[in-house]
Amino acid sequence: MVRSIFKGLFFLIVSGFCAFGAIFLAGMSGSVQLNLNGKELSISIFAAVIVLIGIVFFILIVFAFFNVTIAVIRFLSGDETALSRYFIKSRQIKGNQALSNALIAFNEGDSAEALLHSGRAKYLLKNNMLSLLINAQIAQQLGNSKLVIENFKKLLRNKNTRSIALSGIVSEKIKTGDYQSALILSKKSVELKPKNIRNINTLFNLQLQESDWVGARQTLQSKRKIEKMHRTTFLRHEAILMVAEAKEKRSKGFTKEALGVALAAVRQYPSFVAGLSFLTELELALGNKKRVEKLLQKCWRLFPHPDIAKSFIALVDNETPEDRRTRFQVLTKMKEKGSQTKILEVELCLAAKDFSSAKKLISKLVKDDPDNYTLTLMAAAEKGSGASDSVVQKWLTKAVYAPKSFTWICKNCGFQTEWVSVCPECDGFDTLEWRRPPFYPSNNKAHSQIPLILEADENNGFFSETDQVDSENRHDSDENLSEGLKEELEISTVRQAREIS
Ligand SMILES: [Zn+2]
Repeated sequence: MVRSIFKGLFFLIVSGFCAFGAIFLAGMSGSVQLNLNGKELSISIFAAVIVLIGIVFFILIVFAFFNVTIAVIRFLSGDETALSRYFIKSRQIKGNQALSNALIAFNEGDSAEALLHSGRAKYLLKNNMLSLLINAQIAQQLGNSKLVIENFKKLLRNKNTRSIALSGIVSEKIKTGDYQSALILSKKSVELKPKNIRNINTLFNLQLQESDWVGARQTLQSKRKIEKMHRTTFLRHEAILMVAEAKEKRSKGFTKEALGVALAAVRQYPSFVAGLSFLTELELALGNKKRVEKLLQKCWRLFPHPDIAKSFIALVDNETPEDRRTRFQVLTKMKEKGSQTKILEVELCLAAKDFSSAKKLISKLVKDDPDNYTLTLMAAAEKGSGASDSVVQKWLTKAVYAPKSFTWICKNCGFQTEWVSVCPECDGFDTLEWRRPPFYPSNNKAHSQIPLILEADENNGFFSETDQVDSENRHDSDENLSEGLKEELEISTVRQAREIS
């Protein structure tokens, strides 16, 4: 405000001086004599001053025009001039504005608008690094794969952005399911930046996806160094990859080579159940049982898993249940008996029709730590001992409501499956854990796990809320148990005996 007042005052003073000067000159007497080519010309002093000012202005304009012409010629010939600098600067300002509009629209969730602005920014900023990156990011959000790759290909030309461009193209190839190209590019990406763990992990996952087991083992070495992976974890990961490689060799008919790799894997990770099962298969195919028998015993000590027992069964053909029970003593008579060893003993007793021993062994487990499997075994032991259908039915009912038995569960996503090296749900590598699924008693009260056939009986008064794990008084209900249901339960009991008999 004050500045404007000063400006106005200054303008008034200068105008006043000019007007005063003009009046003063106009009022002056006398004239200026000019002699032009022998002719005398007389003009007033005022007119002379005006002519003089006019000549000065003319000269200035001629100079300015001359300078502009030179600048235009240099501009057109490609030289950097004030003119070109002006245009470049103006273009940059507009480009940066477009870029900032793109980012604002992108963060507001309007990707289409953002793409429009970033496209203009790319044009104005002559595809500079930032405009290409932002345009690529917006295109990724919109799922415009072609545009994403187009941007990243341009970024490949710049040394500083080559790595990020390669990673971007790899991501797009993965999205479109072109894993082979993604794998080739991912290798290049790791070559460019060998310590970038994100690139290494991408390469590792792609190698798993493409069954490149040897390559994955090499990448695992890099992962180990950068992630400072624990030795035990590394050995386990490597053993899993080795068994996968062995399976591939076996499928191609190279059984001996497969055996060598599988054996090395199991030796470096002795509690690797799936690896041991596969090794047993190979050893049996090649007629060598002794070595694998020892490895199975060692594994049972470390990790008593039903699949180890199954592999142990496979070592001898046509065995009587009694002989099997005797042979299995190397497993069942181990010093520290966990639940799984006790369950194995019960299964062997049931197969040998020694129901009273089975019942004795299972009773404690059922009391201390019941789950659907131990309760089903109890039902089988009762059935074999000649208990009434109502008693058998009581145990089976408890089994329905009890926590589920151990299974392989992905620690990342909770998916339950047979053992696999890569979770089919979340693609996690070596994420399966052998544990019980989470138990929700309230869900069980809602009878969500009751088979339809039992649910029907519930409506007939066969079930009650109190008839869960601790229910004892159920003698009057077997009248309601249809013959079909009895048969169904018996079949399920046999099925769940883990193929021991
Ligand atoms: Zn998972």
